[in-house]
Parts: sequence; structure tokens; C-alpha cells
Amino acid sequence: MNSDRRDFLLKTGKLLVLSSAAAAAWEAILAGRAETADNYKMSDHWWGMVIDIEACIGCGNCVRACKEENDVPRDPRYFRTWVERYTVESDDLEHPHVDSPNGGYDGFPEKPGADPRAKHFFVPKLCNHCAHSPCVQVCPVGATFESPDGVVLVDKAYCLGCRYCVQACPYGCRFINPATETVDKCSLCYHRITKGLTTACCETCPTGARQLGDLKNPNDPIHQFLRDHAVHVLKPQMATGAKVYYNGLDGSVR
Ligand code: SF4
Repeated sequence: MNSDRRDFLLKTGKLLVLSSAAAAAWEAILAGRAETADNYKMSDHWWGMVIDIEACIGCGNCVRACKEENDVPRDPRYFRTWVERYTVESDDLEHPHVDSPNGGYDGFPEKPGADPRAKHFFVPKLCNHCAHSPCVQVCPVGATFESPDGVVLVDKAYCLGCRYCVQACPYGCRFINPATETVDKCSLCYHRITKGLTTACCETCPTGARQLGDLKNPNDPIHQFLRDHAVHVLKPQMATGAKVYYNGLDGSVR
């Protein structure tokens, strides 16, 4: 939540409805402390991710690891990250065929009868942790917010389950978790990255197609990757400040 919005909510007393646990979490966030990591300073970091489409083999390791790590319901309607397979025939970028059986959880079976001349590639997707997040702007109670280290988070204790943010996300990255009846989405494994670990999806990717990066750390390999590759973000026309950077994105990907 930006400071103007937070000040407004404080002035209007809306933060007073926080539960004690949520209030404690908020105090930690506003004080620059994250979760249980004692030496983590939010202002030192600005997180993003690079995804190298040319390296993704569609194995689904990332999808399985994410569900396991973050206790995402196994029901195939719910994902914090998923993988789409694009099939582009005759360079017809306007009409790609996209499939994502079970979100890519089990990998991708070969398509019978597929045109061998068609171009195939895999596109992992997740929350883009936008710097100007449409989801944050529509949340009526400030339950979804941008943390100072560039991660879009949800305070479940405060979420009403109203779905405004689900509608507002241009990337389809949010869902209502049936177990909590609050909104759920990728947190960039915040509980891990604040302790110096990478995300579960990056850790289990066998090809390095996904790489967490700290854009504020000049020594982070993400900078070299961004210098060496012509990366793009999804839906750049929406000017969301998306921080998931794709290498190898062609015009067919939406
Ligand atoms: S684990 Fe890596 S290679 Fe496998 S589907 Fe995910 S991004 Fe692609």
C-alpha cells in the first residue's frame, strides 16, 4: 500500500478493524521488518523475476513445487504459477493455440496430429508483482499492497474476499482460496526470499528458465541477464510496471 493510501486509511480509522495478528504483521511491514527474518531490510531489495522461454521445457516442476510449498489446493482450478504451451502454425502470431492441462502440473503430453512445422514453446506465468498494480488500486480495505521491496502481498486477515482484485488483475493471477475464502496469489515465496532463499519454483527448475532477481543488488546476475537479452513484459500497453521479464516472448503471447 502506498503511503498516501495508508495515511488515508489511518486517518479514517479503517486500520482499526485489523485483528491483533494482522496489526502485528502490519507493524512489522511498516517498520521494515519481514516475517521472521531478523536481518532482512526491505529497503535494500526490489524483487523481480526473469523467465527464459527458450530454456523452459514444460516439465511442470515449478508448478508442483509451488503447490507443495505454498499449500495451494490441488484442484486444477487453483494455481499461484502455471505453464502454458503455445503452438503457432505458419507464423500466424494472431491465432496461437494455447493449452495448459492441469496448469502444466503433470507436464505436457505430446499432441497427436500436431503439425511438425508448427512452433511450440512454453510460457510460465505468475503474478507480475507490478510496481503500479491494478489489483492494489481496487482493494477497498488495503488488504493487498505493494511491500517496499517490490512484492505484491495479501494480508489474509484483512481480505474481505470481495474479488475486486481478481477482476482487476490483467494477468489472471488471483483466485479465491476455498479453504480461507480470501484471495490467494504468488507471494514470490516471501517467507523464503526474506531468509535469503530463492522461490520454490526457481529452486526446482532444472534448466534455470526461472530466476529470481534483486533489482537493487548490483551484483545480482539478473542485471547481466537483462543486459544480454531483449526481454519483454506481458501486456506492456497496460503500463503496470510488471517485474516478470521474459526472454523469447513473441507477439503471439498474451
Ligand atoms: S520447472 Fe522450469 S523448465 Fe520446467 S516447466 Fe517450470 S519453468 Fe519450465
